[in-house]
Amino acid sequence: MVGSNLVKNLSNSNSVSEIIGSNRKDTNLFSLDETTKTIKDVNPDLIINAAAKVGGILANNTFRTEFILENLKININILEALINFPSTKLINLGSSCIYPLNASIPTSEESLMGGKLEPTNSPYAMAKIAAIEMGNALKSQYGHKIINLMPTNLYGPNDNFDLNSSHVIPGLIVKFYDAIKNGSENIEIWGTGEPKREFLYVDDLSNAVDFLLEKEWEDDLLNVGSGEEISIKELSYLLKEITKFDGDIIFDTTKPDGNPRKLLDSGKINSLGWKSSTSLPAGLQKTFEWYENNY
Ligand code: GDP
Repeated sequence: MVGSNLVKNLSNSNSVSEIIGSNRKDTNLFSLDETTKTIKDVNPDLIINAAAKVGGILANNTFRTEFILENLKININILEALINFPSTKLINLGSSCIYPLNASIPTSEESLMGGKLEPTNSPYAMAKIAAIEMGNALKSQYGHKIINLMPTNLYGPNDNFDLNSSHVIPGLIVKFYDAIKNGSENIEIWGTGEPKREFLYVDDLSNAVDFLLEKEWEDDLLNVGSGEEISIKELSYLLKEITKFDGDIIFDTTKPDGNPRKLLDSGKINSLGWKSSTSLPAGLQKTFEWYENNY
């Protein structure tokens, strides 16, 4: 979702002369040799690392081994390959789950490593934290320019819409869509519905990256969020309205809630002059329409 959206949006950017996408078919990031070869062949001014094994709460909590191993391998290979290319800048994408469970809300960049991680996605978070630390090492030892962008929960077209591995928004879109199609009387939401999340439409993330391309980077860690949070219960009622489903919503409390609240303090990037521009209802509407037209 993020990579294809960056390619689409940055192709029209005044700060970019050429953008070259590289997906898993083009470069095997589990191989240091292949990763190095791509960097050598393309010789880019800047790399944006949007590669990761990502998933929703169930996938993260079930495939804990794969989430830490695969994400560590991707990040180790990119950063190790970059040692010999100190003039190639890197924008490294992470996630708000790098912050500890007890971090103050809204969570600022200073909260990193201030406590224990939320258990359902700690393997993924640990791999993302390792990437930040590796980047800092390259910066101080070899003079690389690296910025670590930490977006809040992302959603939009080209997201993963597989019910077992998706995040909440694509998961609920599929559930509402199928329930309408099959004439079901209700849909099931995982957990209590009480947790709160902050969501960012994927175009807004690409727009933040574009915005940063024109800036001199000083911060190594930068949060990117919409600044608004909503409970999963409220989100499900909003989607019920958008999809025009007229049945009931049932909460399956045998499924985990995960983090009770995730809201980033995006004050740093806001003070540079960037703000998200897509409201949640508008972004959900676009994503639902995209799903209807593409599945
Ligand atoms: P998280 O932000 O890492 O916890 O990732 P998710 O987007 O997977 O989950 C966010 C919240 O939505 C959690 O409290 C889930 O239990 C809840 N949720 C409710 N229904 C669903 C669903 O159908 N799929 C997913 N992934 N989460 C759901």
